[in-house]
Formats: sequence, structure tokens, C-alpha cells
Amino acid sequence: MALAAAICAIGVYASFAISHHAARAKGGNRTLWSLVSIISSGCTAWATHFIILLAFNPGMPSAFEPVLTAASLASAIVGIGAGVLMSINARQIWAHFLAGLVLGLGITTLHYVGQAAYLVEGYVSWNLRLVIPSIIISLPLSGLGMVAAASRSQALRRCAAPLLLASIAILHFCGMAAMSLHFDPSRSFPSTAVSPAAITPVVAGISLALIALALLGWRFDLAAIARLRQDRRRLRELADVALEGLLICQSDVIVAANSSIEQLAGYDPGMLAGVALNALFPTMDFSKLPEREEREIDLVMRTSRPVPVRVLRCELALGHKMQTVIAVRDQRERLRTEAKIRQLAFNDSLTGLSNRSSYVDRLRQLSCEQIPFALLSIDLDRFKAVNDQFGHLVGDQVLAQVGDRLRSLVGPKDLVARVGGDEFAIILIGDASATRSCEVGRQINRKLAEPFTAGSVIAYCGASVGIVLPSVEAATVGELRQRADLALYRAKIEGRGTICLFDPEMDTASRDRRALEGDLRKAIFDGQITLAYQPVVSAVTGAITSVEALARWTHPVKGPIPPDIFISLAEECGLIETLGTGLLRVACRDATRWPENLRVAVNLSPLQFQAGNLSETVERVLTETGLVPNRLQLEVTEGLVIRDVDRTFAELERLRALGIQILMDDFGVGYSSLSYFERFPFDKVKIDKSFVDKIVTSRASRAIVQAVVGLGGSLGMGVVAEGVETEEQMRALVGAGCTYLQGFLFSKPVNANDIDSIVSLGQKYCDSNVDRAA
Ligand code: C2E
Ligand code: CA
Ligand code: CA
Repeated sequence: MALAAAICAIGVYASFAISHHAARAKGGNRTLWSLVSIISSGCTAWATHFIILLAFNPGMPSAFEPVLTAASLASAIVGIGAGVLMSINARQIWAHFLAGLVLGLGITTLHYVGQAAYLVEGYVSWNLRLVIPSIIISLPLSGLGMVAAASRSQALRRCAAPLLLASIAILHFCGMAAMSLHFDPSRSFPSTAVSPAAITPVVAGISLALIALALLGWRFDLAAIARLRQDRRRLRELADVALEGLLICQSDVIVAANSSIEQLAGYDPGMLAGVALNALFPTMDFSKLPEREEREIDLVMRTSRPVPVRVLRCELALGHKMQTVIAVRDQRERLRTEAKIRQLAFNDSLTGLSNRSSYVDRLRQLSCEQIPFALLSIDLDRFKAVNDQFGHLVGDQVLAQVGDRLRSLVGPKDLVARVGGDEFAIILIGDASATRSCEVGRQINRKLAEPFTAGSVIAYCGASVGIVLPSVEAATVGELRQRADLALYRAKIEGRGTICLFDPEMDTASRDRRALEGDLRKAIFDGQITLAYQPVVSAVTGAITSVEALARWTHPVKGPIPPDIFISLAEECGLIETLGTGLLRVACRDATRWPENLRVAVNLSPLQFQAGNLSETVERVLTETGLVPNRLQLEVTEGLVIRDVDRTFAELERLRALGIQILMDDFGVGYSSLSYFERFPFDKVKIDKSFVDKIVTSRASRAIVQAVVGLGGSLGMGVVAEGVETEEQMRALVGAGCTYLQGFLFSKPVNANDIDSIVSLGQKYCDSNVDRAA
């Protein structure tokens, strides 16, 4: 039994090894080795059977019938060969089953014909009640075995061998049990019978042949394995040169990997072999990925960090074996480049904030999706001065720091954008409530008022903020931005470093303003803007020493418009130079009619200094009108001086050089700085009306007036008090030492003709009042 089992095992191995070799071979070789494999499997079955028969001791002389013996061997070979052939060509389950039946039939024939070839001195009787069931059970089992062998499922394929074995075992043991031997010395063997001693060498010879075949098959296997290894090694060598990661897999397990993928996945060289594919790609089923189709997925590194990659699968024959090769391309660089491109397209390169176009896109998207948001429009207050004074490099650094500070004030959901040179915008998305919006606005005021350090330079900017809160009423993106700008504009008017919330009235106001702008343009070109003159009297003599020219506009529908309003409107829409020069010409021409000791004062807007040719313009007007330069006074405000200090002072110097007097107007409000008096010798200084108003009631005001008078005395400047309305005020001002007085108490602004008559009355228009005060 042991010998039979051993020969059986060796024969089965030989048959399989040779059949694998046949599968790898081509053409005639393939047919030859296939035949050898089939014959060897037939011989294995036959030899196993006959070794057992030879070992069987029936207790009486036995012999073998040679023809039946040969027939049993032939039937085994034919049956197995036919079964295998049918199975190879079979496409459907039933065809595999049929192949199994044929194979089973071959074995059954081998068995029972072999039994029939066994002769004893007596007779053999068969128990058909065992024989028939043994055939009926074993044949279908063999059929099922072949069906299982051809199955796609690995679990079913594993059942094939046990099924076939069960089929053979049932046949064999039932067959043996069904046979009874009866001793009968009267019976003798036929003359052709062969003794067991004669058949033994045949069985031994076949067995030896099987052993030889097994050795041959083993050699074939070793060679095939060596070739597979060599192919894989060559592929790996080739693959290591590739930048792409390459994995060679046997079903779901990695058998080889190149160095690129080892590095990418963070494994030591050689460590990936034997690793399951889903350790690297847990989300991917490669068997479902069509060949040569790229997919973007995450590769999980050894550190379990994901890496974005692109994968591609292809099937490749390696050493006669189909293997799956997976190419893996690292996508990090590409994604980084894409992100960089996106960054460049949608972000401001200086500050890293969103740029104007992505800001507008975002606004559009939020409006579309009806997500509530607040809009903050931010403008730096003194950025131009910083840029002019320290240069663009410092300016850029300040802007970058502004970006950082703004970002630090909002949450990750909110958007901060740089929408223009020194204009920024914030969209509050997370919490767009009024409370938070105003809080953020105030924080911006505070944060941007802090000094900026750029190298050795310390710069101060500050910012104004306009805020638009989410409202139920729908508005286009353009309207929203306009509202934010309106609120910002209002914040700037109200004083730098403030916030202002948009309210719908502003919208109306701005519409009115735009309408007025058109009317103003027309009025300027049609000469509808006229001048009124307000006398300024000497506090000592009561004589009128000068008149201040004040612009007047009577709108055909709206009536008189205050100069504060139309002057600032003219400043905004770029009309101030035309208007200012026109008024200067009128004032100079009117003044030529008046006595030589009466001066005329003309107000100048800070913007008139920006053109850079003010002194030439003034000189030209003086020549045109023939007014002596020392009869002209120009009133400038402190606000002017702050913009562009050096240029302004240079322009003032040129004007003074012409012989014109320069007055500092509205002193005490705005950006008073005594250092201006050090840099430029103003001829007169006008104390603002707000101090005059309080001079009787407020000691502080009185003290300030006195201080200005003291300053004027020591610097040789005349001091004018404007807006004097009461005698009490006049007495206090004269007492304090003011040299000139102007106000309704003496005269309201009057037209040029009235000045003519006042002048002809002898210029003592107000002396009685002054005398009384004195
Ligand atoms: P300002 O230069 O400070 O002019 C003095 C203003 O005070 C004038 O107002 C004048 O009418 C007013 N005033 C004079 N005395 C009294 C008084 O006793 N009581 C009161 N309540 N007011 C008095 P007005 O004419 O409305 O001008 C306002 C401002 O408009 C001027 O302030 C000046 O800044 C600007 N402005 C007027 N005309 C011109 C101009 O031709 N060019 C420029 N650039 N600005 C002008
Ligand atoms: Ca003035
Ligand atoms: Ca004034």
C-alpha cells in the first residue's frame, strides 16, 4: 500500500510537472509533452492499481490475463486523455462535467478490466449490489471534480482534487469488496496466463519510468522558476531606471517593486515583496481597473500618510506566467504646480491675499447661493505719503504687513482680498452679524494704526473702513461694492481711522451728489459761480484792511448751495483747478477797482497745489489782471501741508517770492503742528471760528487764543479772528491782542458792488464798534 501510494504521488507529480512544461512549450513540443503527460497519468493509475493487486495475497495461486491487463492500461490512458482533452476544449459547465464522466469511465474501465485480468485457481464471483452503486456514485463525483477544477473561484478549485480522489477511492474500495474468490483446484489457468512474477518487472519498469519522468518534470520546473526569477530580476533592473514606481504582482500580492516605489511608499529596498497590494492601495480593486486606464488615487505610505498618485495596470507574461504590472506616478509635484498656478491666477502676489477677480467671483457665488455675508471696504489713510516719502520698497512691505494683519483678524471661512493699490476688502461669511462686523471694523482701525516697521523705517498709515451688512433687499454685486465704497467714503469724510456702516440714505445722497456734479460742471463753465467779499478790519484802527473772497453758487432749482458742499464736490470730480483759477481771476480783477491799501484774500484748496504749477498760474493771473502781487493774500489750511510737505513748502516759497501774502486758515483744528511755522513764515494766521465761539465762556479757548497771539507776536505774524458775531467776543479778542477781526458783527459777505460803496464811504465801515471796544 505504501509503495503504491508513493508511486501514485510520484506519478501525479510527474504528470503535472510535464503538463506545465507542455503549457509553456510551443508547436510540436507542446503536443509531444501533452501526450507524455497523459500517458504518464494513465500509467500512474495503472501502476498504483497493479502494485496493490500484486501485494494482494488471495491464499491460492494467482495469475494475470495478458490481453485484459494491457487493455486496462490502454483504457486508463485513453480515458484520462479523452477527459483532459474534452476539458481543455470545454466552454460550459456541462461540458466539463461530461469530461469528468469520460475520465471517470476510463478509471472505472481500468479498475474492472484490471480486476477481470486477475486470475486465481478457482473462480471469482461479483456482488453486483456493490459494483453498480460504486460506478453510479463515482462517475458523477469525477464529473463534479472536473467542473470544480475548471472553476474561476479558487475555493471551488481547491475542492477538485478531493472530489476526484473520493471518486477513485469509492470505486476502488467498493470494487475490492464486491469481489469474492472461491478456491477450486479443478480449474486451471489458461495457457496464455502470466504469473505475478512475470508481471512484476513490467509494473516496476513503468514505475521507474514514472520516477524518471518526475525527475525530468522537476528539472523543467526548476528551469522555469529560474527563468521567472531572471525575468523578474531583469524587469526590476529595468524598472529601477524608471522614474515611475512599478509593482509586479501575483494576484493581490506584490512579488517585486522598483526603487522608485519603495522610496515613494517609504519602504526599505526589497521590503515590498510579499506585501499585500491593498496595504498600499486600500481603496482600490485592481482587478476591476480596466487595463491601461489611468486612475487617480491615494497611495498609503508605510507611515500611513496618503500620497496622491496616478496608477495604471497592465498584464504581462513573465517566464510563461501572466503577471500584473502596476505603474505608479507621484502626483505631488504636479498638484503643487497646479496649486501655484491657481495661486498666481487668483491671488495677489505681494500680500498672498485673494486678488480682485477672485474677490468678485466669490461675491458673485455668495450672492447666487444666497449666503449672508458682510462686506468691509478698507482704504489706507496715509499710504501715498508713505510711498512718496520712503519709496516703493517700503510701501510694498507695508502692504504685505497690512495683509498679514487683516488676515489675523478674521476666521478661515472669511475672505480677505487686495482689490487695488492700497485698497483692501473683507467678506465676513462665518458670522456676518452687525456686532461682529463693527467689531472687526474697529479692530482694523486699531491694528492698522499701529506702526509698520520696514527695515530701519517706521511708518504710520491707519485705515478707514466702510461696512455693508447683509440685508433682505436684493442687490447686484456691483451695487454691493458701490455701497461699500460709499460707506468707506463717508468714513473718510468723518475723519481718518473711523468705520462707517452703509445705510440706504447714503445711496440717495450719492445719487443726488452725482446729479449735482453735472449741474456744477455746467455752472463753472457758464460762469454762474460768483464771489462774495467779507471785510476784515484792523483791531487797532477799525479800518477795513482786506476782504476775503468767498464762492457763491445759486442753483437754478435748489437755490443757494453752501460752498463747503460744492467746493468739495469740485475737488472730487477734478474741477477744482478750473474753478479755483477762475475765481482767483475774478477776485484779482475786482480788487483792481479798489484802493491800493485794500487787500483781497482768496481761499485755496489743497488739491490746487497738486498740479505743481500753482505759482505760475497765480503769476499769470496777476499779469492778466494787473493786480500788484502784494495786494493778494492766499489762504491755505493745515490739511494742505500734511500731504506732500516738501513740495508744498517749495510752492509756498515761490508764491511768497512773488510778493504774495500767505495765510494759515482755520488754525487750531485738524492737524495743527507748530513745526509748520518753523519751516515757513506765514504772514497771518486765522484762529478758527470754533475758538471765537467759546472765547467768552471757555477759559481754555481764551488761553489758546492768547497762546496763538503770543506765537504770532514772536514770529511776526498777524493774528486774525474769524466768525466774530458779538461785541463780547470782539472785546475778548481785542483784549487778548488779536490784530484783525472778521465776522458778521462787522459785515456779512457782500457782493463786489457793495464793497465798492463801502470803500467809497471812506473805509470806516466798522470803526465805531472797534472804537467802543478800545
Ligand atoms: P472759510 O475760509 O473759513 O470762510 C469763512 C466762512 O465763515 C465763510 O463761510 C463765511 O461766510 C463764514 N463766516 C464769516 N463770518 C461769520 C460769522 O460771524 N458767523 C458765521 N456763522 N459764519 C461766518 P462760507 O462762505 O460758507 O464758506 C465756507 C468755507 O468754504 C470757507 O471757509 C472755505 O473753506 C470754503 N470756501 C469758500 N469760498 C471758497 C473758494 O473760493 N475757494 C476755496 N478753495 N474754498 C472756499
Ligand atoms: Ca478762509
Ligand atoms: Ca476759516
